[in-house]
Amino acid sequence: MQKLLEEIATTAATNPDKGRVATYIPELAGTDPNQFGIAAAMADGRVFSAGDADVPFSIQSVSKVFALALALGRVGDAMWTRVGREPSGLSFDSVLLLERENGIPRNPFINAGALVTTDTYLAGSSPREALGELLRFIRAAADDDGIHINEKVARSELATAHRNYSLAHYLASFGNMQASIDKVLGTYCHQCGVEMTCRQLAMAGRFLVDGDKMPALVSAERRRRINALMMTCGHYDGSGDFAFRVGMPGKSGVGGGILVVSPGRASIAVWSPGLNPYGNSKLGTEAMEAFARKTGWSVFGVP
Ligand code: GLU
Repeated sequence: MQKLLEEIATTAATNPDKGRVATYIPELAGTDPNQFGIAAAMADGRVFSAGDADVPFSIQSVSKVFALALALGRVGDAMWTRVGREPSGLSFDSVLLLERENGIPRNPFINAGALVTTDTYLAGSSPREALGELLRFIRAAADDDGIHINEKVARSELATAHRNYSLAHYLASFGNMQASIDKVLGTYCHQCGVEMTCRQLAMAGRFLVDGDKMPALVSAERRRRINALMMTCGHYDGSGDFAFRVGMPGKSGVGGGILVVSPGRASIAVWSPGLNPYGNSKLGTEAMEAFARKTGWSVFGVP
């Protein structure tokens, strides 16, 4: 595994096409695209890493996985009255389907759905308490109390969050927002501002890997369902492409991170800030494609 990760990191370093760094969050726009890290936390407890695996990055939408687990812990299946479980086939911040589908977002991983998820775990508490609970969940999953929120990134996103405000207002117009929009947006942007290294993110993803040494933070059924949603909806309108190329549940973020789960085997985190046209890490996706080919870990075949 160590040799494989090192080979993958070397291939990434020599690839001249790094993709394009997201610029719509001003604080992230200056990130150096020449960075690549990968880490794998194995079901037997070993952790391997290569490249810039100890450099912190903004996990952005990868946070939606932890937020969903927290929201499901709060309300259980009642969650599914407010958000669907189908891929949208549209970009991460699209407003298009909300009008046609009565303010019920297609899934919890597009922004509209994630705003509902945030509203769900925020219910009845202050943003500070809710974010404290989210951080506690992530820290417990990763077994690492050093994980924190980058306040500058969160504020930078909040200051330019016109699309997300529009989505929240749309949801509210259909009665699908409980807390005040300002509270939901503030909490959501801070959630997206969680910072982690590949090593920390791989550790945090272990709650989705079945195994005696993995943290038992959700039930087996919930774990399977979250993995199913990651497979079908984890890469926005590039979800089909990721399943085709990698064949493992994954969730990407515009910071260039991807969390990938190999059920029963490992949690893998890859990061490179340059994105492909779907808004998912270009080198990260290519790296995971190579990883899946070498390991035979696609869930669609027996290695
Ligand atoms: N915080 C980002 C947004 O809402 C998350 C998008 C992403 O990572 O894909 O625009």
